[in-house]
Amino acid sequence: MATVLTPLEIMTRLVSFPTVSHETNLPLVDWVQAYLASHGIESHRWVDPRQPHKAAVFAHVGPRVEGAVVLSGHTDVVPVDGQEWQSDPFTVEERDGKYFGRGTCDMKGFDALAIWALVEAHRQGVSRPLQLALSFDEEIGCTGAPPMIEAMQPLLPKGAAVIVGEPSMMQAVTGHKGIIGFDTHLTGFEVHSSLLHTGVSAVMQGARLIDWANQRNAENMAAEPGEVQAMFEPPWTTAHVGTVTGGTANNITAKECRFVMDFRVVPGENASDWEAAYLAEVRRIEAEMQAIHPDSRIDVQRVFAVPGLVPEAEGRAEALVRSLTGDNGTHVVSYGTEAGQFQAAGYSAVICGPGDIAQAHQPNEYITVAQFAAGHAFMRKLLERLQG
Ligand SMILES: [Zn+2]
Repeated sequence: MATVLTPLEIMTRLVSFPTVSHETNLPLVDWVQAYLASHGIESHRWVDPRQPHKAAVFAHVGPRVEGAVVLSGHTDVVPVDGQEWQSDPFTVEERDGKYFGRGTCDMKGFDALAIWALVEAHRQGVSRPLQLALSFDEEIGCTGAPPMIEAMQPLLPKGAAVIVGEPSMMQAVTGHKGIIGFDTHLTGFEVHSSLLHTGVSAVMQGARLIDWANQRNAENMAAEPGEVQAMFEPPWTTAHVGTVTGGTANNITAKECRFVMDFRVVPGENASDWEAAYLAEVRRIEAEMQAIHPDSRIDVQRVFAVPGLVPEAEGRAEALVRSLTGDNGTHVVSYGTEAGQFQAAGYSAVICGPGDIAQAHQPNEYITVAQFAAGHAFMRKLLERLQG
């Protein structure tokens, strides 16, 4: 007989693998696959060909039919470098009603509960299928989930409702903004600033692009938000530049200017429309720069893009989570997740997981024993529902 581990035992194992985003997660994936196999559960791994030290893992239990509930988590965690920990971050330690360890909250606690639920669904039998989907590289721009979702399609019957277990205190979170960012590199033409009209200052041209963002923000703020937008704080799309570099001297028109322009796009608007609007302005300013000197130019590269999660009308995932938790509140969050990526691929998706996002990424990260137990109770109810 294969050993059945408790959720806490599984979380302890998962936390022991230091799967910081830039490191390998294969030992963790090996362990998950071996544990599932010990219970007779077939699982699939998708290895990223661009970085073969990372993989996603997914599995299906129950009847081979469409309509599964999909439990989705990420296996990577943020670094502990420079943080002061009172205990070993990769050893789960219980103190004061809390389980401490890197990832206990974000989000190996949920991953452990999902693995536990999958094994129980297989042992007890279910009439409606359950799937597990564990990704990587979530913490560095949600880049691991899209290829995983694509790889799942031909191998597993299509799931109906995805629960992304990011820490939400077990509340049903139905929306978040999308995030899209553009590395913007202006190349000007250097002259002595006394001959300003013959040079192209990359800094001053970059300032025009940044001021374009100011104008869009003012317009967006002044517009009346729609019903969906009104759920968000603020209820409009924001354009932002956090850092600017460029220039070498006060009296030289700057040859270089560089910044990342990012947009937090409110659901109901398209990130691609904002991309098009920004690129149109870039091309317009670039043409004016080139009219002064043909060597000047603006190079723009998209560096991250996470689709928003749009609250669904009568969403199946939301309805399921609400019926299991009894939570009828309206919740949206300000961080990006993989839920929007599942939704973009045609799944109904909701965020619901144990723990408080405030503890994520912190030194001495923890999940309370009570929240972990609430997650466990949620999974037991889910199993009952799948058996009914
Ligand atoms: Zn997370």
